[in-house]
Amino acid sequence: MKLSTVALLVSGVATVSAQTSFTGDTLQGYPVIEYLDLNDVPPNTVSRYWISAAEAQGGLPYFLPILVARGSEGSLDTGRRLSLSASIHGDELNGIPVVQRVFAALGNVVSSGNFNGTVIGLPTQNPNGNILNQRNFFSSSNNGFFTNLNRVFPGTSIGEGGSIATSYAYTIWNNVWANTSNVDIAVDFHTLSTGSNGPLWAYADYRLDGVQRLAELAQPDVLKIDPGEPGSIETTWVDHGVPAITLEIGPAKNWNQTLIKRSEEFVWRLLEDLAMLPENYTAPMETVSIGLQNSYRATNFSTVAASRSGWVQMDVVPLQDVQEGQAVGTLYDSWGDVIENLTAPVTGRVLTVKVDPATEQGAGVLDLVYNATSS
Ligand SMILES: [Zn+2]
Repeated sequence: MKLSTVALLVSGVATVSAQTSFTGDTLQGYPVIEYLDLNDVPPNTVSRYWISAAEAQGGLPYFLPILVARGSEGSLDTGRRLSLSASIHGDELNGIPVVQRVFAALGNVVSSGNFNGTVIGLPTQNPNGNILNQRNFFSSSNNGFFTNLNRVFPGTSIGEGGSIATSYAYTIWNNVWANTSNVDIAVDFHTLSTGSNGPLWAYADYRLDGVQRLAELAQPDVLKIDPGEPGSIETTWVDHGVPAITLEIGPAKNWNQTLIKRSEEFVWRLLEDLAMLPENYTAPMETVSIGLQNSYRATNFSTVAASRSGWVQMDVVPLQDVQEGQAVGTLYDSWGDVIENLTAPVTGRVLTVKVDPATEQGAGVLDLVYNATSS
């Protein structure tokens, strides 16, 4: 069933809770807003705004770029509202060009006057993590600590006792996505953490209508079917009745053009499936119909961890099938002596492989996926 025919589960999506609040400031030529009301965004164009998700110590704002592709005047109510967000983890960069390139191409599509719906893009959700060249969000309070922003959504306002990190998430959730009023389907782009390699895979919670179709449209190498992580962007959407997936696009800090292109193709397939593209419109890239013959469906992870610290050499690659007990890598000490022979704990498919040899005791060096329900 096409996603365009999946009933909207969120009630009152067309209602408006506040008007776009322009602060009067501009940054690099684009207006700064405090709240996004899609009614105030001009139709048939792609608009750019900044929003400050929080202020760092000393009052320095963390500005996030917001892209909004609005279709025809009436399509705000008749069309779907799609969110494309990336890089909530500051070292996960492959989703950034996916969002940027889709919006670059959407400019011509919406100007035709026949685009049916609205797309909201947040290409860089964690500039703090980008500055520090790492995954999490740094807070300077109490001598400094890090927060995984993808575990604190939908966030907490300062008035309700929130911290800088939780109020940051609160601002994105409430002031950009309007607590779901601006969005009825969502994709959050991630990659692996720094130091590992992997394929294109989707986390999907099939319990909500529309999620399976969304995940299958991505044609990922692995479909990881699970109930999600509390506080993640994906799971917060799903908890609010909005079909969403996390799409993992290979390694961190390395623009993998093959996987980026596949992710862009997914977005165009999705726009088509949501009936947002004009009739007879030819997408700027191949959207080929869904073929899942190469997608491995899995319900479980199994992680191989090093029992001691040392230098690891892995002998398997992403998407390789391995048997229980098969040798997958070797851990060496600083003399070059073998201190651990690593083996696969289950029969399954290699999802992620550590490529950074520096390894601490307890660190995962390999993730396998397997389907616990098939045997
Ligand atoms: Zn991530």
